[in-house]
Amino acid sequence: MKRWLARAVKAPGSASFAHLQRAVDESKARLEWAENLDDRALALAAQRTAREDAGSDGFTASPQLLAILATAAERTLSQRPFDPQLLACAALLSGNVVELDTGEGKTLVGAMAAAGFAAARRKVHVLSVNDYLARRDAEWMGPLFEVLGLAVGWIGQQTTPATRRANYQHDVVYAPVSEIGYDVLRDRFGTTDTDMVWPMHDVAIVDEADAVMIDEAMSPLVLAGSSREEPADFALADSLVRDLVADAHYAIDDDRATVSLTDQGIDVIEQRLGGVNLYETEHTEAFTRINLALHAHALVERDVDYLVVEGEIKLINTARGRVAQQQRWPDGLHAAIEAKEQLAVSAPGIVLDTITVQDLLAGYTTLVGMSGTVIAVAEDLTEFYSVRSGRVERRLPQRRTDEPQRVFTDDRERMDAVVHEVSERHGAGQPILVGTQSVAESEQFGRALAKVGIDAVVLNARNDAHEASVIARAGEFGAVTISTQLSGRGTDIRLGGAEEQDHARVAAVGGLAVLLVGRSPSERLDAQLRGRSGRQGDPGSTLVFVSTNDDVVQANAPAHLLEKVRRSGSRLDQRTLADIVDRAQRIAEGIRRDQHRDTWDFSRALSRQRKKVLALRGEILSGDLTSVALETRMPTKLASLEEASSPQFVADLTRRVALWCLDEQWCEHLAHMSEVRDGIHLQALAGVNPREEFHRVVLEEFQGFFDAAYENAVGILEKVTTDQLLAGFEALELRRPSATWTYMMSANPLGSPMDRAGRQAGRWLRTRVLKIE
Ligand code: ADP
Ligand code: MG
Repeated sequence: MKRWLARAVKAPGSASFAHLQRAVDESKARLEWAENLDDRALALAAQRTAREDAGSDGFTASPQLLAILATAAERTLSQRPFDPQLLACAALLSGNVVELDTGEGKTLVGAMAAAGFAAARRKVHVLSVNDYLARRDAEWMGPLFEVLGLAVGWIGQQTTPATRRANYQHDVVYAPVSEIGYDVLRDRFGTTDTDMVWPMHDVAIVDEADAVMIDEAMSPLVLAGSSREEPADFALADSLVRDLVADAHYAIDDDRATVSLTDQGIDVIEQRLGGVNLYETEHTEAFTRINLALHAHALVERDVDYLVVEGEIKLINTARGRVAQQQRWPDGLHAAIEAKEQLAVSAPGIVLDTITVQDLLAGYTTLVGMSGTVIAVAEDLTEFYSVRSGRVERRLPQRRTDEPQRVFTDDRERMDAVVHEVSERHGAGQPILVGTQSVAESEQFGRALAKVGIDAVVLNARNDAHEASVIARAGEFGAVTISTQLSGRGTDIRLGGAEEQDHARVAAVGGLAVLLVGRSPSERLDAQLRGRSGRQGDPGSTLVFVSTNDDVVQANAPAHLLEKVRRSGSRLDQRTLADIVDRAQRIAEGIRRDQHRDTWDFSRALSRQRKKVLALRGEILSGDLTSVALETRMPTKLASLEEASSPQFVADLTRRVALWCLDEQWCEHLAHMSEVRDGIHLQALAGVNPREEFHRVVLEEFQGFFDAAYENAVGILEKVTTDQLLAGFEALELRRPSATWTYMMSANPLGSPMDRAGRQAGRWLRTRVLKIE
């Protein structure tokens, strides 16, 4: 408790909202005035007041505006905002990231702030975590916007381009951050205005701000397109490695990052292939596929890293414990996993462009956010986004008790202890939420509980809407729910069921018990799970059952401490063990922050270049820049083409060819830079600072980028025949990918084992199939 307090008070980068309290207090005196306005007058008053409040040096919510927003909320949603909600709303409007505990009503806070911005003629994106929440919140809060004369819409994965375009014109759009990112990426490849959907980057209000702005900030959103190559033959590679035996035929290194064939393993495979030598160049491709197949078998785990749903591989975003939609691993690995699961192998592809969540967010004029856990990352938010964060106190005092963690050195014992604890509490009817670190683990605990006759609902990252309905009932008398870290996020767990019909009985048996099995890579994620209990002044408790075998501990605790545990194990006292666990988590947090900084640094240079390319692309699209640039390079050819058709026809053709060349050039630059980045850590061995070296190379390689693109366009246009000219752009067969999809990558520059394997696959694809390098 003391530690928490110290951190809350001292937290660097955190702001106080005390000065905003006055407007909240004074808004009471204006309520009667606002309540007496009819809908139309209320809308007009909102616009007038909001425009006044949005001064040239930032937005300051006036008491009038807060009274109007409160009145609109009460009139349309029957929710009269509580004071902390009004304070949080004022804090958002003045440009902050706000910490407000789970269950305090951030959905309404975000909507009121969105309405305030929108009434001042700003375009607002409320960024949700998933489609389900975007839709739920837009529909739930819809009446609030309508009464104020504001148009609202939402966007999800299934939304058509036409609806997206229409929605982006609305005052307020609810959407997952990834959908907006993919729209930005897809727009980037549009060749005419009507291809594009035009998301506007004015105001972003980020829900679950720490998750989006920190945990996922560096995940690149990757747009990939199909190449015209045949799917590689992974079935053969798969059959070759299927029955290999760990340690004999292949070895996995200590951090489970890489796997390699032993000499014996290589012998076996060479024999199976009829006595070839795998190290000969003609077998390079086969060898790469064999390694990927091995990686798929030895290191990528079904139900932990991915699910198989209706014949398709669905990636699990391990940070969120959620299924990632429309995402694949870079091709080689994806195909290898498809072969492992004996599914149809999909066609290979090529990366067209990428943008990180942080880049995307940084593009907004105003960026604010809200979450139950912000203060712990206040410093990072300032460093990476130049925003301040602060906490708004909860309305009712906290009545939850957090019991000290219990550390086990044996997984079996931990399992028994969890089952015992659940049985005891369940016997009394107390609802219990068990949070595990993976889908596989949640199923394991589900089975263990079933054995003692407890029927737990296991949530396993398969469907957001379904999860929300299950989570909504997790507070019922006698409910036992097992989930991964954050499943069902955004859904309120009310005591005694969704309508709180049984609240008193459940409160009497202690409210919701949250049981954490293992610790997350950050205390903040643990706190989010804990926050499920004790909402709105309810009673509740949290317990933590850690095992020293948990990944967080094994991967992060210093070696000498792990050694101590291995030697003395259960003889160590709880305090020593708890210290080791806490330390491992702190180290994990530190590593995360360093990685964020590194990746940000790596991506910054590229994002600047991306901006330049996009600016030129915009000019080519809208003007006649191309003709000017090409005029000097190939005057005679252009003249003859114009003679054969018309100046306008040629202008259009050259424009499209130039766009195509520019886009190609960018793909290649990206591919090349990701190669450089992969190799850059080796520079450290040679005594070179990898960051400086990377920046040097990025700049150097970008030299002459535009000239090269134009030269390429000249090369293509010089060869154009009159027949082709008359047949138009299509006759040149400069095809664009017919389908696009997106990839998920983690933030780490050196990558998770998966990313590394993925990049290895990408490298193979580029060098061998697409012959880019
Ligand atoms: P958070 O996102 O902060 O965890 P939610 O926005 O999901 O919380 O809201 C939690 C619950 O509180 C919702 O069921 C909502 O209807 C309710 N709620 C929020 N604000 C109010 C209010 N002012 N009056 C009554 N109920 C409210
Ligand atoms: Mg919420």
